[in-house]
Parts: sequence; C-alpha cells; structure tokens
Amino acid sequence: MPELPEVENVRRSLKRIVPAGARSRRLTLHRPDLRFPFPLGLSEKLVGERLLDIHRRAKYLIFETDRFWLLSHLGMTGSWRELSTPALHDHLEWEFENGPTLVFNDPRRFGFVSLHDKSRKLDAFEALGPEPLEEDFDAEYLLRISRGKLQPLKSFLLDQKNVAGLGNIYVCEALFLSGLSPFKKARQLKLENCRKIVKSVRKILLSAIDAGGSTIRDYKNAEGKSGAFQNGFRVYGRDGEACRKCRGPIRIRRQAGRSTFWCATCQK
Ligand SMILES: [Zn+2]
Repeated sequence: MPELPEVENVRRSLKRIVPAGARSRRLTLHRPDLRFPFPLGLSEKLVGERLLDIHRRAKYLIFETDRFWLLSHLGMTGSWRELSTPALHDHLEWEFENGPTLVFNDPRRFGFVSLHDKSRKLDAFEALGPEPLEEDFDAEYLLRISRGKLQPLKSFLLDQKNVAGLGNIYVCEALFLSGLSPFKKARQLKLENCRKIVKSVRKILLSAIDAGGSTIRDYKNAEGKSGAFQNGFRVYGRDGEACRKCRGPIRIRRQAGRSTFWCATCQK
C-alpha cells in the first residue's frame, strides 16, 4: 500500500508530466465507481479548467484547478501514469490540451477520487494530524498528545489523527531507528523519546522519498519508475534475518491486524 514517500513521488512525477497551467480537455470514466462512486458531473466540471498545481496531504494527492480540488487516494493498488498504451483496469482518463493524457489505473479499486469546490472549506482533512515533515510535528507536540494514551507506540503513530501519512512500513523502520519498542505504551514516552521519534520519522521519510519510495509488489511513480528504498529496510519484511546493528534475529508479530517487525535487543 503506497505511503507518504510513494505518494510524494507520484506527485513529483505527475508535475513533470503535466505542465503547470495545462488546460483540461476531456475526462473519461470507464466505470461508475472505484471504492466510492465517481463524483456527479466530474467530467463536465473539469472541462476547460487549468491544472494549477498538484499538492499532497498525508496519502492524498490534490489536483488544484481554477475552481476545484480533485482529491485522489491510491488505496492499495491505484496508480497514475501518462497514457501511452491502454491497459486493463484503466478507470479514468484525463486529457489535457496540447498535452498528455493521465490515466488512473486500479485493479483492486480501493482508491478513489473526490471533487471539492475551492470556495468552500475542505473538510476532508479536518481529522488528520500534522504532516510529519512539517514544523508542527515536534517532540513537544508528540509528548502532549501521548499523555494518558494506552495504545502501543506503533498503533499510536499509525493513527492518522496523531500524525498524517505514516503506514506500517515507515513506522516499523522509524521505530527501529529510534531504538524504541513498538509495544511500549504511548503514555510512557518521555520528551527525549519523542525527540528521537520525530528525528527518526523525518530521516526515514526523507531517505525514502529520495530513493523514489519502496516497491514491495507493484508500486511505480507516474513515470513508471519503481522505488528502491526496500533495499535498505532494516526491519520491515526481514523476520528471521540478522539485525543490521546487533546481528540478533529480526522478529515478527501480529499487532492490531498488521505485521510488526522489530529487534528485541535494539528496541526497548
Ligand atoms: Zn538489533
């Protein structure tokens, strides 16, 4: 499932494909829905709109046009690319004047798009915590929101209300880097721990963005390029292998429905 670094790479690659200000010529849908029905009047509303910019918030892509925000979530298997050859599971085609045609492809259809009027407040992000790469995600903030929380540290960091855009891979990796156990209770965190978490989360995300994201199964950016960060995983998917730091075994355990990977020696 694409996380923040992958979505950020999709965003950057899309911006290289579509020149800023490109005017939307036609939007074609090949089915009525993805995870949710496509917005009513989507094609009609976007015709003639200029694509001004492409932003990211958490794991959402936000296409900004003259009048609208078009939100796109990749779900499990969603991908954007420039159309050259049509493929199975191409659900949406977005054609620009004198320019490329973007395609949204999604075999499992857990992705979705939604359309929002720019003149109205965008409430889709209200429940989301701060961006992990922004200033407001700092040790004091983490300490404050962790008070009294019984959740294990891993679940606490996966909760999008606390910090936005983190998923299983990068939380496992960041906790290893910070030397903290995924099972430690959030309320036990000290300021020093919070400093380490913030630093580790930023470091992991920035390295992963630089590496083009992680390709576990089929992730590619909009230019068809796979990520390489999976080659540098320290714990994720490495159960039974030797810890890169202490040479002890990397362990795996189911935690809140997901696999947690950690080193019991290096993470306390
Ligand atoms: Zn270790």
